[in-house]
Amino acid sequence: MNPRSIQFRLVAWYTGLLTGIFVLLFTLLFLRLQIFLVNDLRETQLRRAHQVANTLLVRVGETGEPFVAGQVNEWYSPEINDRFVRITRAHGTLIYASRRPHDGSFDPAEVPVLSPVPTREVSREIKLSNGKTLLVAALPFKSPESSAVYIIEFGELLDPVQAMLRHLFLQLAEGLPLAVIIIAVGGYWLVRRALMPVAQITRAAESITQHNLSERLPVPHTGDELERLSISLNRMIARLDDAFQNSKRFVADASHELRTPMTILRGELEALTENKQLDAAVREQAGSMLEEVARLSKIVQQLFALSRLDAGEAQTEWARFDLAELAQTTAGQMNLLAEDKKIAIQCATSQPVFIEGDRARLKQVVVNLLDNAIKYTPPHGQIHLRVRSENERALLEVEDNGIGIPREALPHVFERFFRVDPARTGEAESAGLGLSIVKSICTAHGAEVEAVSVPQTGSCFRVKFSMPGK
Ligand code: ADP
Repeated sequence: MNPRSIQFRLVAWYTGLLTGIFVLLFTLLFLRLQIFLVNDLRETQLRRAHQVANTLLVRVGETGEPFVAGQVNEWYSPEINDRFVRITRAHGTLIYASRRPHDGSFDPAEVPVLSPVPTREVSREIKLSNGKTLLVAALPFKSPESSAVYIIEFGELLDPVQAMLRHLFLQLAEGLPLAVIIIAVGGYWLVRRALMPVAQITRAAESITQHNLSERLPVPHTGDELERLSISLNRMIARLDDAFQNSKRFVADASHELRTPMTILRGELEALTENKQLDAAVREQAGSMLEEVARLSKIVQQLFALSRLDAGEAQTEWARFDLAELAQTTAGQMNLLAEDKKIAIQCATSQPVFIEGDRARLKQVVVNLLDNAIKYTPPHGQIHLRVRSENERALLEVEDNGIGIPREALPHVFERFFRVDPARTGEAESAGLGLSIVKSICTAHGAEVEAVSVPQTGSCFRVKFSMPGK
């Protein structure tokens, strides 16, 4: 998962926050439980002390101290119940003291006598030599009969409480990683569900190009920000579509309208150049004007071809045909042009390679690529035209050993009106539209076109078609 994605960040934040809240709640719960259990134990001890005071010591004058000691031993059986009980008269006289409990868990002699005599209830946590802690609550009691002050002490080990808390802590510590995993997986699932429309919108947006601007993004009917965003994006695409259609219509109309006056102009100029009654200088001028008009009409023709391709016209004449045969015929027709420059076109097309497409348009691809190769290869150069099938794709290659294309210009050669350098041989007469026509035709056929070139060594243009039924 990408750590910078919204999905990852939301899950990380949510998991971190919930884990933090859990840890905080567990700690609070643990501390409160500890305080509650120790207080409860202390209150139990004090309750027993009050019991002794209110039922036995209150009548000590009548019953005598040995009776009290006997009763306490009988009621509480401290040795059996692992308790500490001690009753002393103020200033030291011992009335009753429990012995070491049966399990030997502590030695009562380790509990120091309270001094000075407390005036109210007190409780102490006494650290014993065996590492255990004894919680002892003491209650001073003044006998109403004899005015003697007694200190009643009840105590119990804190160990069971501590063992229970330790156990609880371990349970929580063991459960926490599991809770974190459940939170993270649950969070991932929730966020994924919530962001699913974003992935769909992204996929749809990426598939929209100038050729399918009429398509729209899916609108999730959730009533949230994503619904509003996709509606706004769809409105934006509609505006772009309008603008694009307008500009395409303008280029198509303009090039169409220009064709007729251009043809008339050419005819008139041709007539002027051939008119022997005119002065030679005027005829020469008319001749150079004719060249410019020819160039102009080629540009208009190319613009018209591009606008028709933009309108999706390449798919009207779809048929299955042999690309190798098309390449060979076209190379034969262009041989005259190449021979003028003493350039040899080697055509390597051993086997038929069938593809589906608009034959006339694909012929234009071969013509444009060969035309460039001838234009940008010095006399006595070599051009290789190859057609073959490779990895279930049909491949058309035009390779020359001409002037090549500089590295920085290579990514731009398929752009409209791009020329590497108008000062280069052959570039002055052309407008930089030939390769954009190649690209448009290839795109309309679902084919890829790429160029590799080394300056002063040569260039190679490669078109990859998918084959019918593959
Ligand atoms: P043009 O019709 O002006 O030749 P293209 O679109 O066909 O325009 O080509 C764009 C530019 O790419 C050209 O100006 C030229 O500099 C360069 N180019 C195209 N083919 C070749 C080639 N075979 N060798 C060298 N440069 C080339």
